Amino acid sequence: KAKAEGRGAFRMFEPAMAERMQARNRMETDLRRALAAGEFELHFQPLVDVQSGEVTAAEALVRWRHPEQGLISPADFIPLAEETGLIVPLGEWVLRTACTQAASWPQEIKVAVNLSPVQVRDDRLPETVAAILREIGLEPGRLELEITEGVLLDGEERTLAMLTRLRAIGVGLAMDDFGTGYSSLSYLRRFPFSKIKIDRSFVCLLPDDAESAAIVRAIITMGAGLGMATTVEGVENAEQYAFVAAEHCGQVQGYHVSRPLPGPAFLGFLSGMEAAA
Ligand code: C2E
Ligand code: MG
Ligand code: MG
Ligand code: MG
Repeated sequence: KAKAEGRGAFRMFEPAMAERMQARNRMETDLRRALAAGEFELHFQPLVDVQSGEVTAAEALVRWRHPEQGLISPADFIPLAEETGLIVPLGEWVLRTACTQAASWPQEIKVAVNLSPVQVRDDRLPETVAAILREIGLEPGRLELEITEGVLLDGEERTLAMLTRLRAIGVGLAMDDFGTGYSSLSYLRRFPFSKIKIDRSFVCLLPDDAESAAIVRAIITMGAGLGMATTVEGVENAEQYAFVAAEHCGQVQGYHVSRPLPGPAFLGFLSGMEAAA
């Protein structure tokens, strides 16, 4: 009986596997098609300077406007884009589009672009970034590249060399989602980051959770001591904003300030802030 069940289980397993593979292949084909068809778009989420209350940067966040499925969030297609290598052309599109938009903004604020570890492994990345900035005529200081801790696992020497080449262009380098990965404090000293972005998992229980409060406070203090700017991600309400502002963090990003907005709505947000000031 056990044997029969075993075979049955195998028969059940195999079609499910095959189906998953098929779905994955369909999505890969679809991703390729979407890239050629121009179905990706960028939304921009403002980063507000706590001291001045002004928008000083915006993070570009990619979305896929699928003809049948509607707007797909990056969590649902970036992993496959990474596995298939499609993240390299997609990432280049994101960089070029984000820089083009930033060049047209009425204020000289920075634009932040997320880089996948797969892109950071590509030796041509610094040339690509430099070429895009030159082509668009955007000052390197207005671009900030965000990378996650996962990149640092690729080999410290190699990553250090890459990050050093990127910094030499004059762009900023932010450690994204700080505290969620394999954070080692020595990384912050060793690698040329200009900014730390505190992950929103440390923010969501603020201001009441004493442990979250202690961690956020400690990271802000450490950032200041290392001469790095800090941005607190995922600030969703006035209490959280007040807490991190009182702790002298540099910038705040989160739904309390604004959700990520399509290009035109982001411009509207900027002019609204100007009108309010
Ligand atoms: P991330 O770089 O950490 O971006 C912040 C994410 O948090 C965004 O999700 C943003 O919409 C969300 N967020 C911002 N404020 C709040 C808040 O107050 N509360 C909550 N609950 N969430 C908030 P999104 O746009 O879905 O992006 C998810 C992740 O996908 C990003 O995390 C980033 O790792 C990746 N990603 C997005 N765009 C790109 C891209 O162009 N290239 C690459 N390689 N990855 C990207
Ligand atoms: Mg980011
Ligand atoms: Mg983040
Ligand atoms: Mg994140």
